[in-house]
Amino acid sequence: MPAVSVWNKCNNRCIMCTNGKEYSNGSSEQYTLKKQIEKMEKYLRGDRAVFYKGAEDPGYITLTGGEPTLHPDFLKLVCYYRRRCPGLEITLLTNGRTLEDKVFMQKYLSAAGTPARTIIPVHSSDPEEHDYVSGVKGSFVQTMRGLENLFAFAPADHKIGIRFIQHGTGKKRLERTLSMLLRKFPDTARYTVAIIHFEIEGCSLSNEKDIHISLKDSAKEVLEAKPLIDHFPNLFLYHYPLCVLDESLRCRAKITLPEEERVYPEEKCGICCRREDCLGLMIDYHRLFGDSELEPLKK
Ligand code: SF4
Ligand code: SF4
Repeated sequence: MPAVSVWNKCNNRCIMCTNGKEYSNGSSEQYTLKKQIEKMEKYLRGDRAVFYKGAEDPGYITLTGGEPTLHPDFLKLVCYYRRRCPGLEITLLTNGRTLEDKVFMQKYLSAAGTPARTIIPVHSSDPEEHDYVSGVKGSFVQTMRGLENLFAFAPADHKIGIRFIQHGTGKKRLERTLSMLLRKFPDTARYTVAIIHFEIEGCSLSNEKDIHISLKDSAKEVLEAKPLIDHFPNLFLYHYPLCVLDESLRCRAKITLPEEERVYPEEKCGICCRREDCLGLMIDYHRLFGDSELEPLKK
């Protein structure tokens, strides 16, 4: 099942958003309830081309955007997906702000049923820093309330995920954020955490100079946070080549990008023993910064 772009508008303006302005400023006409249902019905009849991401993987359906919950018929759409895709895990990627409304949250949980998963990004423990990253004053408070509601109301079999996008904003931002998560949500077995080196695409490409951090420096910050990371059994690292990570952290790395968005420079990866279970380099990162950080592994 595919990643469905539910709605192209968002109430955040994140500094590292992978959507470009042309996407969010464009018309929402193709995202109406009717159009979304037509697309999914076509897909279910076998037309894989209607969705361009994840269309070949039948195991899940991911609702993304923009901010999916801003869709005027969001709840109807979730009910429809639940009905037409019974048994499939519905994953909602949301900035969590609308979920601060407890009534809306409960309606969403009931529409999604099970299996389902909600993933919310947290950008910092510091409200001002989070709001700087999200581009909207007050968003930290709303996102944290949304997360708190999720922990309070989601049934035990509704999966909860938190994301942290690693970029060059703020000193020790990762460590501070993990400390806050540990304090606020101490049952770390209840949820997953993904630390994601940012992708250079859309707004993050325009802002690259402001938020730049090399993969090596990013991995160094992850290593510095290891004493905290050790408290999270379900914490994973996305978008890191194995060779930039400390050996003790490589078991947490996941390959989450499709093949066409990754590259394995032959001179390095061709003589590396971890080629098969490594993400390689993100293609846009390689285009801008080359492969000088890679060091083939021997074991
Ligand atoms: S990253 Fe997500 S929450 Fe942030 S502006 Fe983009 S779509 Fe909105
Ligand atoms: S050299 Fe290539 S295959 Fe080996 S760990 Fe680094 S990126 Fe991965």
